[in-house]
Formats: sequence, C-alpha cells, structure tokens
Amino acid sequence: MSTLLITHAACLDHDPGAYHPESPARLKAVLEGLSDSEFKDVERVAAPRAEDRHLTLCHPVSYVEAVMGTIPPAGRHALDGDTIVCPGSGEAALRAAGAVVAAVDAVMTGKAKNVFCAVRPPGHHAEAGQAMGFCIFNNVAIGALHARANHGLDRVAVIDFDVHHGNGTQHMFERDPNLFYASSHQWPLYPGTGAAEERGLGNIVNLPLRPYSGGEEFRRGFERVILPALDKFRPELVMISAGFDAHADDPLASLQLHEDDYAWVTSALLEVAETHAKGRLVSTLEGGYDLRALAASAAAHVRALKAA
Ligand SMILES: [Zn+2]
Repeated sequence: MSTLLITHAACLDHDPGAYHPESPARLKAVLEGLSDSEFKDVERVAAPRAEDRHLTLCHPVSYVEAVMGTIPPAGRHALDGDTIVCPGSGEAALRAAGAVVAAVDAVMTGKAKNVFCAVRPPGHHAEAGQAMGFCIFNNVAIGALHARANHGLDRVAVIDFDVHHGNGTQHMFERDPNLFYASSHQWPLYPGTGAAEERGLGNIVNLPLRPYSGGEEFRRGFERVILPALDKFRPELVMISAGFDAHADDPLASLQLHEDDYAWVTSALLEVAETHAKGRLVSTLEGGYDLRALAASAAAHVRALKAA
C-alpha cells in the first residue's frame, strides 16, 4: 500500500477569470511540483465524477440543481462575490468532489494507505445551500459523509490547516458528535467565523492565530489544542483540508508558515491516523495562491504522506 494522487484535467477548465487568485495555474503548479522523480512511485488516478447521491450527502438537491443550472454555455456567472463559474466549472466541481469520494473508497478498500486529491475548485467555504469563497461543493465534507454512509464508519475527523476558517465544513459537522472538525487559521480574516468559543457539541476545535504567528506558534497550537482533542475523538478516518495559503509567501494572508511546517503537521496527523484509523488518511487541496510556495508546500506534504 502506498500514496495515491487523484486529480483530473477537467479541474484545469474551471477558470474564474484572468485576475482571480484561484486560477488553473495553481493546479498546474501543484502537479508540476509532484512530477519530480522522487514522486514516481505515487500512482496517479483520474477522478470520477461525484454522483448526485454523494453531493446530496451535504447539499440539498435544489442547490445541486441550481448550481449546475447556472453554469453558462459561454462567458462567466457569479455565484457569490468571489465565486465565479465558466463553462468548464460544472465538470471541474463534479470531478473535485468525486476525487475525494474515490480517495475515501481507496483507503477504505486498502487500495492505498493515504491519498492526496489535487483538485479545484476548493470546498471548505461552501455551505449546504450557498457557494462561497471560491468554493462550489464541499468536497471534503462530502467525502467524510460518504465514508460514514457507504463504508460504515462511525467517527470521521477533518483537520483544516488552510489559512482561512472552513465555515462550511464546521456548519455541516457541528450538530453531529461523530464528526470532528479542527481548524487552524489566521484571525481576524475572511470568512470571519472560527472563534475559539465555537465548539459545536465539543466536536469543533478552532485555533485562531494572529497575523505573523509563524511556524512555532502554529506547531504549539496543534500540540496543545488540536492533536489532544483529535486523539480523544479517536477518528476511524483522518481527512485534511490542505490549504497552503498560510505560507509566508502567500499574497492573501500573513501567517508565515514554511514548507517544513506543512511536513511537520502532515506527519503529526499521519501518526494519529496510524494510532486510531489503521493509517487511513485522505488529504485534499484547498487554498494556496503563491504558485512557487504552493508547489513546494504540496510537495513537502506529499513527501510526508509517502514516508508513512
Ligand atoms: Zn484559504
């Protein structure tokens, strides 16, 4: 068993516009970073489309139909202030969610030990009935609920180290004690949720970090707050919302992390997966907007996954 990379060329066809930070060039940079010979043993698999039965684990049918109905035959359409769709966006969104579903299948059937889904659009800001913050479907939450609905798991954890709080995932998880969501994020920052006091039923853990916190503060927060809570939850599957926009070079935030911080947190989460979840871990790309930092950080992340 090894590490799998699930991606799809259709995810490059979601193009929100020339000046939009969530660009196809991001995914190109990630895949280029993972094309080095050191990753030649990482098998690449094409993402299937998510089916309606997967999407509706998290989103009402009416939302899925409304979103797919707004995909324009040409030009662009805004789902919210910064979530823009073009003709290729529907297929990209279905493949992004489908990648995570396939990744869960792969770790649950023993085809892979862990998986990195290199996909876009990202998902963690997507609410049940509202596209938001570059996100259309909540890819990771869909995968988590798929693991429970179709693989018989009880407890699934999502850890989100994107620099922004994953409001959508938190809201989808906060009333279910067998789902766990922990997020480290810059505070204050978009979307404005994720205060330490937001605890759900005790299954939500927020680690707001001040601008310029840096790697030491980030690691201490994980060691003191997130990892102990996660250990206590005893997840049967560990999922990661892997945004790399907390990197020092990222233009959207200023948390000042570096590649070695991403390698560190990945290894720490792999350890939890090994202890409680037979090593099963599914990671999915969220944000990250400096192309060089994004590629290097994703490479550090997958290098750590591979070493598990
Ligand atoms: Zn982000």
